[in-house]
Amino acid sequence: MTESNKDHSLFWSPAVAKLQPYVPGEQPKTTARLIKLNTNESPYPPSPKAQAVLQEEGLAAHLRLYPDPESTQLRETIAAQFDLSPEQVFVGNGSDEVLAHAFYSFFQRPEPLLYPDITYSFYPVYCQFYGIESQKLPLRDDFSIAVEDFAIDNAGGVIIPNPNAPTGRYLPLAEIEKLLQLHPERVVVIDEAYIDFGGESAVALIDRYPNLLVIHTLSKSHALAGLRLGYAMGQAHLIEGLNRAKNSFNSYPIDGIAQKVATAAIADREWLADNCAKVIATREWTCSELTEIGFDIVPSTANFIFAKPQKISAEDLFNALRERNIIVRYFNKPRISEYLRISIGTDEEMQALVAACREVL
Ligand SMILES: *Cc1c(COP(=O)(O)O)cnc(C)c1O
Repeated sequence: MTESNKDHSLFWSPAVAKLQPYVPGEQPKTTARLIKLNTNESPYPPSPKAQAVLQEEGLAAHLRLYPDPESTQLRETIAAQFDLSPEQVFVGNGSDEVLAHAFYSFFQRPEPLLYPDITYSFYPVYCQFYGIESQKLPLRDDFSIAVEDFAIDNAGGVIIPNPNAPTGRYLPLAEIEKLLQLHPERVVVIDEAYIDFGGESAVALIDRYPNLLVIHTLSKSHALAGLRLGYAMGQAHLIEGLNRAKNSFNSYPIDGIAQKVATAAIADREWLADNCAKVIATREWTCSELTEIGFDIVPSTANFIFAKPQKISAEDLFNALRERNIIVRYFNKPRISEYLRISIGTDEEMQALVAACREVL
């Protein structure tokens, strides 16, 4: 600990001194000469209809007013897309905030929360933040989720991303149903940040499972990571739980401009389908090229791939790519330290990535 840290910690509450916060992927100050494939952003700009909102007259003048605390129009638009009622939709400042409220609302229990050993690294951070016990269940060697291992008595709840991050592997809905049936009295959160890139959403199960909460984000498939908008869908009693937490923390987490832009983006289904089709085509091309050069690739239904170079360590390749102005994500963690997570960029960016890998290998 440095001297200045020591001084600061004098004023921190003991709980803050103990925190180990989440570390986001690098966001370089300038991306001018960089090919940025490290945080699963969209390589394409958002829907023109979403962009047009920002040109509307009077938008800035309207900022003197507080926004709608319930984001009514936005929730109605989301509900209409998924055949739900607005009471079955909760919105938050990015899905990370939605996740935080879900952990607070459903998982603060004496029993441990269950999640895979390799998964989104924010989950352990929220557990620590809210003092939630957890039990990590190992993925199989092929990185698939072993649902039968979640059959644990006295669990406090379950959370998995589907497709999982950072592996990109998808779990079929029949397996999700097994999870829901294993823990009928606990909430099962399915974090579908990447579902639009090939999987089938668990939203269709909401009617039948009162313990199911599905979380989406506009950050990946909608190309709006900078807007900060995520949402949860589930039966009304779960949404009410989330609202109790949200209204005890911040009444206005979604600013008025974000509400309007998000509403336009979600209504533009055609743009979403086109954008995802482009990313999927580029992903498939990249997978076949990298396989040819000598990578083991985990089957992906996401906008990234999880790939292991056969002839060089993942860390060495990460550094070699960095020298060539290509940033990917390397996790120095057990079981995955020989893999790189590579976000899918434009065709040109992925051609440059493949060329750089050829050169290094
Ligand atoms: C990116 C991501 C999120 C966070 O998305 P935001 O809406 O930008 O906060 C949540 N869960 C998973 C699995 C993600 O990969």
